[in-house]
Amino acid sequence: MSIYEIIDKKRHGGTLSREEICFFVDGYMKEHIADYQASALLMAICINSMNDDEIFYLTEAMMNSGEIIDLSAFGDLSVDKHSTGGVGDKTTLIVAPIVASLGCYVAKMSGRGLGFTGGTVDKLESIPGYKTSPSLRDFLTCVSKTGICVVGQSANLAPCDKKLYALRDVTATVESIPLIASSIMSKKLASGAKSIVLDVKVGSGAFMKNIDDATKLALTMKRLGERFGRNVKAIITNMDVPLGAYVGNSVEVFEAIWVLSGNTDSPLGKICIELASNMVSCALNLPLDEAYQRVNNAIFSGKALLKMKEWILAQGGDVSYISTPSKLLCAPFSCEYISKSEGYISGIDARSIGCASMMLGAGRTTKEDVIESSVGIRLNKSYGDYVRVGDSIATVYYSNKVRVKNASNMLDRAFSFSNEQPPELTLVYKII
Ligand code: URA
Repeated sequence: MSIYEIIDKKRHGGTLSREEICFFVDGYMKEHIADYQASALLMAICINSMNDDEIFYLTEAMMNSGEIIDLSAFGDLSVDKHSTGGVGDKTTLIVAPIVASLGCYVAKMSGRGLGFTGGTVDKLESIPGYKTSPSLRDFLTCVSKTGICVVGQSANLAPCDKKLYALRDVTATVESIPLIASSIMSKKLASGAKSIVLDVKVGSGAFMKNIDDATKLALTMKRLGERFGRNVKAIITNMDVPLGAYVGNSVEVFEAIWVLSGNTDSPLGKICIELASNMVSCALNLPLDEAYQRVNNAIFSGKALLKMKEWILAQGGDVSYISTPSKLLCAPFSCEYISKSEGYISGIDARSIGCASMMLGAGRTTKEDVIESSVGIRLNKSYGDYVRVGDSIATVYYSNKVRVKNASNMLDRAFSFSNEQPPELTLVYKII
């Protein structure tokens, strides 16, 4: 077997065997296969796709390239969620304590933000003291004691995906359904949860730009997970506009606490209830209606917020930031971004808002950048609101005036206006 023959086979639209896929993954990890050969194969996969068996073998090989977390001690009660990424997406901070307060176990490894999308780990690190890299043993102890632990992804979780993802990023081979599905699922499967709820985002701020592609991706990941014996649900949700009013790091933790305090009547609140209910329904094997009731009860009884405090404390965080969330609005300066137009807001481009927040220092342009946890943006107007010239559409939290200028230029591109009220946004397109 040779990598040349494997590349050539895929280039001609052939079907790769388990042995050929394992040969590639193993050889790439051992550096017997060079980056240029791996890139050629990735491009051939992008162009000629893969069938379900090939995707399964690739996922299996990438999952087995590193450690596999054993959550069997939690039986069928372990549950994970994954979002395909977006702007203002703080759903993990909200759904994890809700479902843990209902008896599920959330042992979650989350990512850092890169580019215009944020990362859960960066948001959590804005709480002073919060530890995102405990040992595996402490991680599992925290899960069994409090029902929840959210940490940064271990370097040894699906390391082949890490190497391949970095290569895909620079060779225009990210946007392939077989490659995205195997990349996401290799990490989720290695993380060990019995049930997995996938939040597949569609829209300007997401990888998937249309519902057909998002559905294909969701179905591929669901079939994959089920073949590995996991319960998988996929929810296709809107990412045309940012999720929630706040975009940044500490400001997003602030908003998560707001929702957990019972303020659920917003697109963010509704999507979180949908995600949490599906997680609870899968893990506790309950009809969805009953799961909805339990989730609402966990929020409105204060149980979920209490669980958040317990979780943050268990991971070393200063819990006074949860009791007094205004401490999280701590940027040195703030200013208003004023509307230069009049009309209904008919679009808030998620990508431009994410870029503006990144320019303020809330995100990274390279993996080495150090972020500023307190800066960010609050949207004072929502999609569909009527605004007049001079109204404040957003508040900008900042520490450096030069950065505000660049961020304001980006905000100029983010908002569109119309004379008529735009159609209502669909929040949840499908549950699969
Ligand atoms: N997120 C991942 O983890 N992998 C992809 O390929 C795309 C998004």
